[in-house]
Amino acid sequence: MTTTLTLVRGDITRESVDAIVNAANSSLLGGGGVDGAIHRRGGPEILAACRALRASRYGKGLPTGQAVATTAGALDARWVIHTVGPVWSADEDRSALLASCYRESLRVADGLGATTVAFPAVSTGVYGWPMDDGARIALDTVRTADTAVREARFVLFDDAAYRAFATALG
Ligand code: ADP
Repeated sequence: MTTTLTLVRGDITRESVDAIVNAANSSLLGGGGVDGAIHRRGGPEILAACRALRASRYGKGLPTGQAVATTAGALDARWVIHTVGPVWSADEDRSALLASCYRESLRVADGLGATTVAFPAVSTGVYGWPMDDGARIALDTVRTADTAVREARFVLFDDAAYRAFATALG
């Protein structure tokens, strides 16, 4: 099945899609950036679901490169798919882990039956991944993924991020 890749500039919490991907941290208990925005706007139901995951499947936290879904609380979307991006390193190539975030998020989306999914630029904020490279990995991974997701929408928070994704999309 073909997945259509679309780019928009904006705030991912405002997107009307089946599932929104969160650039979470391994604690799943909230943070800054897009994580903070999702929890703020989605309300306490999301955090409650994350706490339940910590108390059951993910006692040690969600490992880097993996993904797990919760309710989207008060958001328009039905689900939030939390994934933990790698922290960028100049000494070690962690690209496979960043690609895994996108691939695993799509796998979780397929399991839910979500066909429209919005992604932020995972790892490119506090985790320091260079935007151009993050965009290339995101687009290459989603483009070549084996998934039933019909639309993968990349929601870029500022002009520089949008331009980097537009250039990488070609
Ligand atoms: P990470 O820790 O994975 O780097 P951040 O949330 O710090 O996660 O940043 C990831 C990307 O999400 C950054 O490019 C940041 O500008 C962007 N971002 C922050 N808030 C939002 C939002 N509300 N919607 C979409 N993207 C956002």
